[in-house]
Amino acid sequence: MKSVAILGSTGSIGTQSLEVAARYPDRIRVVSLAASTSVGLLAKQCARFHPEIVSVRGPDEARKLADLLSGETAAPEIVYGSDGLLAVTEHPGITSVVNGLVGSVGLTPTLAALRNGLEVLLANKESLVMAGDLIKKLVADGSCSIIPVDSEHSAIYQCLNGNVASPGLSRIILTASGGPFRDRHIADFDSLTVEEALSHPTWKMGPKITVDSATLMNKGLEIIEAHHLFSLPPDRIDVVIHPSSIVHSFVEFSDGSLLAQLSHPTMEIPIQYALLGGDRMPSTVKKLDLAELGSLEFFPPDSRKFPAMELARESLRMGGTAPAVLNGANEKAVGLFLDRRIKFPMITRLAEKALSDHTVTEATESAIMESDSWARDFVERSLENHITKA
Ligand code: MG
Repeated sequence: MKSVAILGSTGSIGTQSLEVAARYPDRIRVVSLAASTSVGLLAKQCARFHPEIVSVRGPDEARKLADLLSGETAAPEIVYGSDGLLAVTEHPGITSVVNGLVGSVGLTPTLAALRNGLEVLLANKESLVMAGDLIKKLVADGSCSIIPVDSEHSAIYQCLNGNVASPGLSRIILTASGGPFRDRHIADFDSLTVEEALSHPTWKMGPKITVDSATLMNKGLEIIEAHHLFSLPPDRIDVVIHPSSIVHSFVEFSDGSLLAQLSHPTMEIPIQYALLGGDRMPSTVKKLDLAELGSLEFFPPDSRKFPAMELARESLRMGGTAPAVLNGANEKAVGLFLDRRIKFPMITRLAEKALSDHTVTEATESAIMESDSWARDFVERSLENHITKA
């Protein structure tokens, strides 16, 4: 029985985690939930799953939630802010934390959970991007663990039978849908709109990761994530474009054998695999009809159109705080694009500029946090200085 905290419970990962918990109540007990501002949905989740403690963004959301739950007999304790998020993560009795938070806000609870000896079911790839070496040190002593919930990394983990290493593992090949702009000409990139960037061809996800999929920064971050999770150097982590998102990734062994995990694009399988500790149990996912699919297509990625993957590799070569800077600058730039303050190609360009202006230091927890703020400020300042118009 896992006793779980679900961080980001009203988001895409959180809601799907709760569906798995509802299907397997004898295996998964929901102890705590954290959401930001979707108080109405959170109230419904509380009425259905009866968590002991829940966290929201601030005091206003906490009051609203308390009002909505005033008729409930077993209303949870309500907390808020970054302290609330930690209280939900560290609540007594929790064995596993599903981290479905978006962006760098996910790092602190990941580290707190690991330091408390918990298992972290990690969908928040930014945790590993920013602090991969720190996390690996925590996991290395064996008292805590990371279970990947990102679909590609779950695919690799499944191919390795629920392990992060295997003798003879020679290469990882991450698949990428290529995003909505795969077939668009680079000359059109300046005129791409927020709406176009948000209409992902195969995956339904939150806005930040959907824009990251359009720039392919998502794949760049996933290269860094895979590097830390599976302890392979970046030159043994490749990317192939696979538009239908049926193959979720490949692992290659020294003998030339290639294993893959396939399904219709869904997060339900990675989430359920992680929550059920690798047990194969029924899900609601429609089974694949290979003859109906007919073919699977693969193409090389176009790094001239989508330089983000190369930037991610560069940040790994730079080491230390560089990946945290790439991540922070990208997160800020994606926000500016969603606010319609910069054009689409500027997202990656600003991340590149932040990376090249950054002085790398050793990635201690405080240095990581400082680098993250520095990168965000850098992007904001670049915008004020009209560098974005260059
Ligand atoms: Mg992914």
